[in-house]
Amino acid sequence: MSFNTDLLRAGVVREANGATLPPVYQSSAFEQDTAADLEKIFENKAPGYCYTRVGNPTVTAFENRITKLEGGMASIACASGMAAIMNAILNIVRSGDEIVSSASLYGGSIDLFRDIEEFDIKTRYIKNNDWEAIEGAINEHTRLLFAETIGNPCLDVTDVERLAEIAHAHKIPLILDNTTATAYLFQGLKHGADIVVNSSSKYINGSSNSISGILTYSGRFQWDPQMYPQIAAYKKFGPMAYIARLRNSLFRDTGACLAPMNAYLNLIGMETLGLRMERQCSNALELAQWLEETYPSVTVNYPGLKSSNWYEIAKKQFSRGYGAILTLRVGSKENAFALIDALKIPYTLSNIGDTKTLVIHPGSTISLHSSEQEKEDAGVFEDLIRVSVGIEDIEDLKADFAQAIEKIGAL
Ligand SMILES: *Cc1c(COP(=O)(O)O)cnc(C)c1O
Repeated sequence: MSFNTDLLRAGVVREANGATLPPVYQSSAFEQDTAADLEKIFENKAPGYCYTRVGNPTVTAFENRITKLEGGMASIACASGMAAIMNAILNIVRSGDEIVSSASLYGGSIDLFRDIEEFDIKTRYIKNNDWEAIEGAINEHTRLLFAETIGNPCLDVTDVERLAEIAHAHKIPLILDNTTATAYLFQGLKHGADIVVNSSSKYINGSSNSISGILTYSGRFQWDPQMYPQIAAYKKFGPMAYIARLRNSLFRDTGACLAPMNAYLNLIGMETLGLRMERQCSNALELAQWLEETYPSVTVNYPGLKSSNWYEIAKKQFSRGYGAILTLRVGSKENAFALIDALKIPYTLSNIGDTKTLVIHPGSTISLHSSEQEKEDAGVFEDLIRVSVGIEDIEDLKADFAQAIEKIGAL
């Protein structure tokens, strides 16, 4: 089935009483008939549920649908996108290991990578698609490559197939944060990525009513037992070893599980992911083209503009659009603040992927904790505004940006 049909049907099981939505299993624990039945579940010898921190049927329904959409083997849903990234990474790195990552990351991911330096896990940042530098940063301690499909907020586009080739030549996996693209634009696992993470708080949920994240594994990576002894210990699970190890250790034991109600809200929101992305990508393209043409003093960055350094790779990689985020450079921080304050339709807040258009000044908010060098590498400038384009009528958005730009006058 194709994407929009999968959004409605993938992983659907016949629910009790013929319900067309999975019930919200708002229950912390699940009873079994006998003590022996419960033992089997704890020993992974029988399917079933025991405790919602480990698994919950509503959460499973969400996991199964994302697994299908991303083209993977299995997923684990988490309390947030950050929890998903932390679980995906800490499942395979240990003290003394290293990560090689694209420099243009979501600020929260940079913060997390700094936090884990305390545990002697070092991250080397390289500019996206700088193949020589990436090769040069990989050494015998490197355990994974990390990148975002479309960097937030730099909006650089990772050449995923090429990056995956480099990872695999070094026997390490590629973990791809697909939040900004979503499976609608790009299924990373089909293009060489081994693990895809999504902050489902964003486009997947769509209406910003809950925080959640999810990681999806391809089931294909060949884990070298010397490099990944943690995974080797779960060898009996075959292609599920990576997932089995997480569920039976770090994920279960750190407790960042997804609440059943939030899984349910995601399942409802997701039904319109394709429709929303179609509209949001076309709104973003039109807004970006119009701003670029109409206001030469505003520098517009959007992967769908021919002026973008990432236009060619975006065109090659994405068949249905270029994403729904654009950034504007307006000359100074003062101009950026004035423009944000003059806009009437967008919400000024720290989020992306809502049905509503959102704006933010990344330098003073999401990248506040980054160093000057980290900001520069991540494409965050003092005069930069990020716009997450919603599903509003495009003429209303254009009119609002026009009045705001004309109001601040300085441009
Ligand atoms: C928001 C975001 C995250 C973090 O997700 P949360 O659900 O807020 O924890 C990670 N990566 C990217 C690209 C994001 O936009």
